[in-house]
Amino acid sequence: MTAVGIGYDSHRFAEGRRLVIGGVEIPHERGLEGHSDSDVLTHAVIDALLGASGLGDIGEHFPDTEERWRDADSIALLEAVVGMVSERGLELEHVDCTVLMEAPKLAPHKPAIRARLADALGVAAERVNVKATTGERIGFVGRGEGVAALAVATLENAG
Ligand code: MG
Repeated sequence: MTAVGIGYDSHRFAEGRRLVIGGVEIPHERGLEGHSDSDVLTHAVIDALLGASGLGDIGEHFPDTEERWRDADSIALLEAVVGMVSERGLELEHVDCTVLMEAPKLAPHKPAIRARLADALGVAAERVNVKATTGERIGFVGRGEGVAALAVATLENAG
């Protein structure tokens, strides 16, 4: 069986926060607000994996009401989810994702993000694709109020 999962997340820009996208810290005057490190892309990838595995969503596993997840390293959460996926006898075939962000430009950071996510997912970088787009100055992304991310994960029965 092949199973596909979708993930979506968004976080608001805030002063005095780090901008972490796919486990890579990107120099910028603002970062993303939230309970964990607010790594919007890694959160979308986590939900895509959970979706394809039939394991619910990120909020069920790592509630933002719990103090132990404050400023959590989202890559560590992703690695925990990768463990849950393999415990269910599933193997990751491919992850594709898109970051929607007006600024800064993601292009210079895409190779590092791809490598970081592939490492956390335990797959070759060829199995991970990272895309970026702006909001064309429309909506919350386009106005620079926040960042959104989409991800799709394809899993197969390990075998
Ligand atoms: Mg999130």
